[in-house]
Amino acid sequence: MRYDLHSHSIASDGTLTPSALIARAVEQGVDVLALTDHDTTDGITEAQRAASGHALSLVAGVEISVTWRKQTVHIVGLNIHPGHDELERGLTRLREFRNWRAQEIDRRLAKRGIDGALAGAGQFAKGAIVSRTHFARFLVQQGRVTSVQEAFDHYLSRSRPAYVPGEWATLSEAVDWITGAGGDAVVAHPGRYQLTHSKLKALLTEFKDCGGAAIEVISGNQPVQTNAHFGSIARAHDLKASLGSDYHGPENAWVELGRLPALPEGLKPVWDGWPHAA
Ligand code: AMP
Ligand code: MN
Ligand code: MN
Ligand code: MN
Repeated sequence: MRYDLHSHSIASDGTLTPSALIARAVEQGVDVLALTDHDTTDGITEAQRAASGHALSLVAGVEISVTWRKQTVHIVGLNIHPGHDELERGLTRLREFRNWRAQEIDRRLAKRGIDGALAGAGQFAKGAIVSRTHFARFLVQQGRVTSVQEAFDHYLSRSRPAYVPGEWATLSEAVDWITGAGGDAVVAHPGRYQLTHSKLKALLTEFKDCGGAAIEVISGNQPVQTNAHFGSIARAHDLKASLGSDYHGPENAWVELGRLPALPEGLKPVWDGWPHAA
């Protein structure tokens, strides 16, 4: 069985429609795909419809933005019931913060002589949530930078001029929203936060105490030699293991749907006990 439990569509900052994402997952031989858009479940209905004609199982998911000790971390929810009241109320609040932040990013870029950023990012977002990724694409389009990566490095990353700090959900809110909606909470891409070992331990301890279920032991783009490391961290914290590409679209040619190494031995997969686990 080929699992990929982390992916994005145009409902957030991916570039494929949910239907096109499903078509590509089928093409790539993925058996179980989770759609986990940032702070929204809007793509799931279309994804479910697109998956229904195929052998592929679609897992309803979400990736929630969290502020933990002044740092942004991402908590993925898997197997949620989209439309669950408390979850949707929480996500709405995060999207409101996103909209305010987008205006603030626009103001900061304008101060640097870059006008029309919000409108430009909005064209890439096509009416869905506005992410920093959309601002990055706008900056590339305008020739201000040569790549999305450079846009983050020069403008959008923490401590760069257009970075806007703020408060996303708390860790316990995100876990509660997910578990309340019947899902499993997963710490996304633990290697990307540049946390010290003791801070990662603190995060995972608090996460587990809140009712968190799993950690992404394998994430797209993650150096292979770290897989075993995150495997032993999962074991040490008695967390289940997840894996996902964090696919955002074909533009990023080095990440593909479902092309992930197997989980290290001796871990409990997050999908144990799911109806379509097989
Ligand atoms: P946001 O949730 O709007 O703050 O945007 C975060 C998104 O930006 C992440 O989900 C990634 O898709 C993307 N991102 C963050 N940092 C980088 C980076 N250094 N290079 C490229 N993309 C990034
Ligand atoms: Mn993203
Ligand atoms: Mn993420
Ligand atoms: Mn993601």
